Amino acid sequence: MQTPDKSPSAPQPTAHTPTLRADNISFAYAATLALSNVSFAPRAGEILAIVGPNGSGKSTLLGVLLGALKPTNGTVYLKDKPLAAYPPDAIARAIAYVPQRPTVAFGFTVEEVVLMGRWPHRGSSGASGLLGLPGPDDAAAVTHALAACDITHLAHRRFRELSGGEQQRACLARALAQQSPIMLLDEPMNALDLRHQLQLSHLLQTLASGGSAIVLVTHDLRLAASLAQQIALMDRGKLKAVGTPSQVLTPQVLEPIYGVKVQQSPAGLTFALPPII
Ligand code: ADP
Ligand code: MG
Repeated sequence: MQTPDKSPSAPQPTAHTPTLRADNISFAYAATLALSNVSFAPRAGEILAIVGPNGSGKSTLLGVLLGALKPTNGTVYLKDKPLAAYPPDAIARAIAYVPQRPTVAFGFTVEEVVLMGRWPHRGSSGASGLLGLPGPDDAAAVTHALAACDITHLAHRRFRELSGGEQQRACLARALAQQSPIMLLDEPMNALDLRHQLQLSHLLQTLASGGSAIVLVTHDLRLAASLAQQIALMDRGKLKAVGTPSQVLTPQVLEPIYGVKVQQSPAGLTFALPPII
């Protein structure tokens, strides 16, 4: 992934930049209550990291934020209207999503997968060609996204035949091609090698400084500390803390939730298992 300065995928902040707000959200999968009274709001121009143990509700929260899961209680607002009031293409123009597990049906090539990120722009004035066919803006967005995710050389390979990390980068490129001012990413670094992790970190910082609101689910607390302006800590479906990294990433807050010993030093956080009794 590279971060060209004149990126067409880095929306500039305007008075109309959509913002997303979860207001008292609860969500249940049948009998399993996965989210309970969660309220928070990512801000344009910032990275918000969602952290928390396995099964604490992070992926579910992203699903609710992008409208894929309907909250059992509470409301998600996009700008000043409930998310449910928007048609799917309007939501997709506002919110891009990188899932935890890359999945693509059928034998699409990487380029075709990235082009799928353009569907919400089809038919909008000047954005695409006639009859919803890909237009010059679509081609430019795809070319840029492929380059930014370092997969131009894979454009004509079948998505299904790529490695896990390459698939992850193709899903990132699809989200980038969408050019939405809000981006939700679910553990996007997991399959990436060190170089591509660093490049993605840089890309997310560039998008945020261009005015995007970035919501990043990650297990890497040190990465969250270095990248994010806000941290939201989930535990068993509840939002246990929201604040700056120095407010949330402390031994007092983390130890009871993760069940590990946490030490804070000028060099950062270190973690250890508690002594076995
Ligand atoms: P996280 O992303 O923090 O690891 P999830 O949001 O995936 O957590 O899951 C939260 C809780 O909801 C867990 O207890 C999980 O087992 C449950 N869960 C997640 N997806 C489903 C599903 N499709 N059906 C039933 N339960 C689910
Ligand atoms: Mg998850």
